Amino acid sequence: MTFIETRGNDGVKPSEVAFSEAILSPSASFGGLYVPKTLPRLDFDFFKAHTGSHYKTLCKALFEKFDVDIPAEELSAALDRYDRFDDPSDPVPLKQVEEDAFVSELWHGPTRAFKDMALQPFGYILSKLAERRGEHYLIMAATSGDTGPATLETFKNAPNIKVACLYPAGGTSDVQRLQMVTEEAANEKVIGIRGDFDDAQTALKNLLASESFKRKLKESQTELSAANSVNFGRIIFQIIYHIYSYLKLVERGEVALGEHIYIIVPSGNFGNVLGAYYAKKMGLPVEKLLISSNINNILTDLVTKGEYDLRGRSLCQTTSPAMDILKSSNVERVLFDKFGPERTRELMESLNEKGFYRLSGDELAMLREDFDATFCSDEEGKAVIAAYAKKGYIMDPHTATCFKAYDQLRKKSLKTVICSTAEWTKFSRTVCDALGHPVERDIEALQWVSGHYGVEVPPMIAELFEKPIVHDTVVEKEAIEEEILKFI
Ligand SMILES: *Cc1c(COP(=O)(O)O)cnc(C)c1O
Repeated sequence: MTFIETRGNDGVKPSEVAFSEAILSPSASFGGLYVPKTLPRLDFDFFKAHTGSHYKTLCKALFEKFDVDIPAEELSAALDRYDRFDDPSDPVPLKQVEEDAFVSELWHGPTRAFKDMALQPFGYILSKLAERRGEHYLIMAATSGDTGPATLETFKNAPNIKVACLYPAGGTSDVQRLQMVTEEAANEKVIGIRGDFDDAQTALKNLLASESFKRKLKESQTELSAANSVNFGRIIFQIIYHIYSYLKLVERGEVALGEHIYIIVPSGNFGNVLGAYYAKKMGLPVEKLLISSNINNILTDLVTKGEYDLRGRSLCQTTSPAMDILKSSNVERVLFDKFGPERTRELMESLNEKGFYRLSGDELAMLREDFDATFCSDEEGKAVIAAYAKKGYIMDPHTATCFKAYDQLRKKSLKTVICSTAEWTKFSRTVCDALGHPVERDIEALQWVSGHYGVEVPPMIAELFEKPIVHDTVVEKEAIEEEILKFI
């Protein structure tokens, strides 16, 4: 399988690249992204053969269909990362919460957020690739809370890889911060910056674009790369669990093979729901993909009005911070898929230059063939958390946003899979507050919720509070480059 570019080719970069190339150097011509030239087709026999398959078996079958340039034994070793999940025989449990609604829990990995689903195997593949080529990479990440821990965890002690992770000091939950600053690996550096997530992200973008920084890295034989959510090496792993959850419904007799379902995805940078879109295109029987957002509802506007308009908008902080995003990068891949490279380039240039784009009526109709969307306020989300806790199911605030979509967007009475993207323990203060007991610190919230609702705090979260702090660097924005060069 080869990869082509969402904004067309500039005549300088190769017009088609292999998978390994697309994941090592993920930026394409005109600031575009790489996308598969064709998607494999999954037929009835494929689904039938894999109903009941182990997660890893399904992954291997899918990679075979994609035919990517990763040796089979490397892929196999990468997939062994799923053995670190709570139940290696079933890394993605599916829990029934309503007669027709099932929660796909994507957070049973080491850092308790869905980022592990892709970053765990992807980290192994990237490091092996670097090793095979005799190259060294610095992976930079800016995080508001979930990407940082997942990136550090997957690359810790990985050959040929160093990681520099920037986070806003004071801008994450205690658990998220501890997951980063207690990470003990000689190849990783965690830097708190005085500022908010936007400052961290801007600092990262400036460094990624800085020729002098790249030159200094080159002097130490190091290339710059990013493991962010536009990397197709992450997207490919995010197709698989959507198929797996569907096949589980078949296995349990909840749907007959071929029967349509709804999938609801709490979305930020659009990587998770893009994986579901590709699964649908490949043949997974999905009626519609329902996108849920918080009050940063730019995706709702896109899917209901055909407008992507940043003008006059500013980012609002919510209790679902992983979805506090206005520039949702992976949307571009859907634009490309539906409207082709010329139109995608036109739309993305309009967004960059004028701060908005508008789809035609026909284009909006094409988008709505696959998607619908709504958004959920913090207060509405809290009410959902409280209502389901009463019924015995504790969920995190990102997952909670999905239930408004569940109530309002389904036009047919079909079985529905809701993607749960984080364990409640990562956002325990919000959950505790929703349950009527506001507290100041994560540790109190974890103990209270666990005690009152009989849910366990997993060891990797409980142990964080005992671990020594390894990274205590907190600097001004201006000093980041120097810190990283010192580390290299
Ligand atoms: C990253 C994240 C999301 C958003 O996922 P996208 O793929 O960026 O849309 C939602 N919830 C949680 C908890 C996350 O960590």
